[in-house]
Amino acid sequence: MGRYTGPACRFCRREGMKLFLKGDRCNMAKCPIDTGRPAPGMHGARRTKASDYSKQFREKQRLRRFYGLQDGQFRLFFDRAAQQHGITGETLLQMLEMRLDNLVYRFGFSPSRRAARQFVLHQHLTVNARRADIPSMILKAGDRVTVKDHKQSRELAKKWLDANEGKTISPWLAVDRGNFTGDVLHVPTRDEIGPFVNEQLVVELCSK
Ligand code: SF4
Repeated sequence: MGRYTGPACRFCRREGMKLFLKGDRCNMAKCPIDTGRPAPGMHGARRTKASDYSKQFREKQRLRRFYGLQDGQFRLFFDRAAQQHGITGETLLQMLEMRLDNLVYRFGFSPSRRAARQFVLHQHLTVNARRADIPSMILKAGDRVTVKDHKQSRELAKKWLDANEGKTISPWLAVDRGNFTGDVLHVPTRDEIGPFVNEQLVVELCSK
């Protein structure tokens, strides 16, 4: 399936939660989730009893859309997580959190994951002083992301760092705003990632 180019807010309305897909505009009062708009479509406002499959499917879509992945990419991540030791759902969330585009967003260099992806693709960054232009790259504890010392790269990052000033950063990350660097202190625990999704339902669906 091709890349979705329609309104991002439809995804949030469908999932019934803020997925923060439009950067700083998501904090404005007219966010459709804050104004209580129902799910899109003719029957969006109708409440029906959800089947087990539908609950699992919605959780998977919520997780996939939160991180901005297409179905195929998500499936690859799930398969990799399933091959590793440990709890598959937790491993999957950790892998998604450790993606380079997600980290760029979490460090505050970009307003959204979608913008972060573009920031990476346009080669504004290095990881451990080496070129990094693959948004799906998975980082490790101890890795350092640096905005390149180019005027355009730093101006872009500074704009969003200034806009994000005052926002608390996840405890497993550290940002040096003056030097345009972000460090991964450790792999996040399940508690540090937050309870926005029931990953067990996603595992049940993807393991079928
Ligand atoms: Fe739209 Fe952002 Fe609100 Fe989602 S969180 S509905 S993308 S404004």
